[in-house]
Amino acid sequence: MFCPFCRAQETKVIDSRLVSGGEQIRRRRQCIECAERFTTFEFAELVMPKVIKRDQTREPFNEDKLSAGLMRALEKRPVSTEAIEQTMNKIKSELRATGEREIKSELIGELIMQALRNLDKIAYVRFASVYRSFEDVKEFSEEIARLSDE
Ligand SMILES: [Zn+2]
Repeated sequence: MFCPFCRAQETKVIDSRLVSGGEQIRRRRQCIECAERFTTFEFAELVMPKVIKRDQTREPFNEDKLSAGLMRALEKRPVSTEAIEQTMNKIKSELRATGEREIKSELIGELIMQALRNLDKIAYVRFASVYRSFEDVKEFSEEIARLSDE
């Protein structure tokens, strides 16, 4: 790619390593013309299924929404950015692994809950209490009871 500083066409890779649990390659590059250094990331572009909302309308899968949901639940919790990224990647692979072109939004919620349950119990309870609807309150208190048994 062109140098983002001087637009020269020749740049060289000076370092290359796997990040995000092997899902991405991070490369440090240097421009041969102006000697500026910059970083590029390479990752596979994979098509995500469309999301069927509760009102039956469809929308494209939105990574920012998934990220925002996780971050809200994990606010001020001792969980690393790396662990959150891995969780995002795991949920996305699970969604792709369904092989479906469209998936229900509820499935995303369930996958987030499963992932948080392993990652951080407090975040799990936060997310579940917001996500689960009122008629599930009995199921929810059973879940809390199960968690405290563990
Ligand atoms: Zn340059």
